[in-house]
Amino acid sequence: MKTIKDVNFKGKKVLVRVDFNVPFDSQKRITDDTRIREALPTINKLTKDGAKVILMAHLGRPKKGGFEPDLTLKPVADYLSKKINQEVVFTQSLLGDEVTKLCNNLKDGQVMLLENIRFYPEETKGDENFAKQLSLLGDAYVNDAFGACHREHASTATIAKYFPNDKYFGLLMENEIVNLTKLMTNPSKPFTAVIGGSKISTKIDVLKNLLNIVDNLIIGGGMTYTFRKAQGQKIGDSICEDDKMDVALELLHLAKQKNVNVYLPEDRVIADDFSNNANIQRTKIDEIPNGWQGMDIGEKTIKLYSDVVLKSKTILWNGPMGVFEMENFAKGTNAIAKAVADATEHNGAFSAIGGGDSVAAIDQSGYADKISYISTGGGAMLEYLEGKTLPGIKAIMD
Ligand code: AMP
Repeated sequence: MKTIKDVNFKGKKVLVRVDFNVPFDSQKRITDDTRIREALPTINKLTKDGAKVILMAHLGRPKKGGFEPDLTLKPVADYLSKKINQEVVFTQSLLGDEVTKLCNNLKDGQVMLLENIRFYPEETKGDENFAKQLSLLGDAYVNDAFGACHREHASTATIAKYFPNDKYFGLLMENEIVNLTKLMTNPSKPFTAVIGGSKISTKIDVLKNLLNIVDNLIIGGGMTYTFRKAQGQKIGDSICEDDKMDVALELLHLAKQKNVNVYLPEDRVIADDFSNNANIQRTKIDEIPNGWQGMDIGEKTIKLYSDVVLKSKTILWNGPMGVFEMENFAKGTNAIAKAVADATEHNGAFSAIGGGDSVAAIDQSGYADKISYISTGGGAMLEYLEGKTLPGIKAIMD
């Protein structure tokens, strides 16, 4: 793997694609700086080498094709400057004589951030000419934006071809690739995947691909009702995708063929409204009355799922077991978080968690520091688990 670790970039202008797509409050304050913090090891390594660091990033989804004041990266430049204790040069445009001059005038160890790259519609089109113009700003290219590497955009993929001998993975990307490879290539057995979330439709390809590699597939969350209804059970008013019932049955059939043990909930916490203040009952899975909906897995299911997780040597978790954002329905998700943490800490299992809500769920449970690897990429990790080649990774490998 070509990573920045073994190279000294002294005096080089290094173009680095980072993921600075951070959330803001109404006063333009950053409310979660995780993505900025995660890029620091790469930025610090390059500045320590004495490189001239030119950062490329996007923010949100600009629609107009041009500058949008709400989506400027200027506040990120100011924030980053405090984090690295030095000025961050900020440019309002990406191309042109002015920017080229600024890049050429950078001193060794200096950092510059280019304005939101998606202000240029060419970025998301993966435009060759745009990528080529960008490439002229640097002597080397580094991709450290795992969260954006499933996109075939100019700055995440196309640009790499203009650096045939000088393209590298950043430290964050390297860590993601090492861990994902460990997960999906020769994992220690038994391998258990815990897949939850609201809908089966968004996870079909992940589920299908995982059946090729896991021993146990634990299913939780809203998607389980599509399986259970397809099996003829009464699910009351629970969330369900009627048009995916055939897919659910096909997945169960495929699992049988591949000798994968599939676990579905046997009992439920149900509510008479989609609200934390709703009336609550506990029932067996096939006894959800009309007017009630399943909101979390029940005690028996928690025990069953935890036992399987605790016997596993490799665990992948994506998606909550219930409506974990509401306190009364977070118990199942928190219990699984504990089981994954215990399996890692006490049984030496390798545990991996990824996908937006799962990261929020493990943070909320308080067990995050016990997990072997928490991925920073939601969509990117899911596409990797689907077995797809991610354009941002391929572009560096080619
Ligand atoms: P996803 O984005 O597909 O991973 O789904 C995550 C969402 O699924 C979370 O916001 C959960 O609240 C939701 N969810 C989990 N279980 C249920 C359920 N039984 N009914 C409705 N939504 C659910």
